[in-house]
Amino acid sequence: MIQINQAIVGRLYVVATPIGNLEDITLRALRTLKEVDLIAAEDTRHTRQLLNHFEIHTPLISYYREKEAERSDELVQKMLTGVTIALVSDAGTPGISDPGAILVQKARGAGIVIVPVPGPSALTAALSAAGIAESAFLFLGFAPPKKGQRQKFLSTFVESPWSLVLYESPHRIQGLLMDVLEILGDRQAFWGRELTKLYEDLQAGTISQLLERASSQRNRGEFVLIIGPGVSRQVTGDDLEETLLWYQKNTEFSLKDVSQRVAKDLGLSRSDVYQKALQVWAASKDNS
Ligand code: SAM
Repeated sequence: MIQINQAIVGRLYVVATPIGNLEDITLRALRTLKEVDLIAAEDTRHTRQLLNHFEIHTPLISYYREKEAERSDELVQKMLTGVTIALVSDAGTPGISDPGAILVQKARGAGIVIVPVPGPSALTAALSAAGIAESAFLFLGFAPPKKGQRQKFLSTFVESPWSLVLYESPHRIQGLLMDVLEILGDRQAFWGRELTKLYEDLQAGTISQLLERASSQRNRGEFVLIIGPGVSRQVTGDDLEETLLWYQKNTEFSLKDVSQRVAKDLGLSRSDVYQKALQVWAASKDNS
């Protein structure tokens, strides 16, 4: 095991930067970018513009996906000699569909302290404006670009009881929506496009409505697409107990959420369903 002198080891700050509106940068991000010895950036030209805007003169080094493995070794060596580094991506939070994970893993492995400096991310910005009722969601990042692979990928999530969140670029959004319609059905959905920018566009509707909108306009700007859950067990008044049991076994919904959902589906009183759900949950606990 390598002996590390903690007194001289540098730190790795993982710094979130704006996804459009520069005012979204945090005070802590600004101070960190000013104070570190070096900024590792996905695209140094892009980050240079951000730094110029805030009059920050810290030296930059490139750190992009294709060179992640090689560059991370070099950066870890620097940090082991006391150099402090801030890792940034082009926009948002490093490591979220962006390079960063390899450097973080290697730095941690070498005993370097990792410090997250949180801030903007398209993921959280879109979720915050979507108004999704359940707190659980599945973040899928980018779907595969090729139709066949994308359809296969989407079919993995047909039964998911959670909302699905995807990133997509403007020239693929139509293809993605078409495949979602075919594979997952015409679910409720939401997109956040050009978030925090001048032409910010938030749309809620069914997949086919969003597809129509996407087909009728030029799709400038990047998208976050949120697809509502499709798993809604078809129930009749006869199989209330069975239905509650199914939700209890197959989903992560809370007892309260399940009661609300099932009561709505069956047109039953919420408190009656809740009482029944309490019994079902208790019985399944006894059996486990
Ligand atoms: N790490 C970034 C983050 O935390 O949001 C994401 C980087 S990923 C390479 C880029 C994708 O994020 C875009 O294709 C788009 O799906 C989404 N994205 C980034 N900025 C966005 C914005 N202003 N509005 C909507 N989506 C955005």
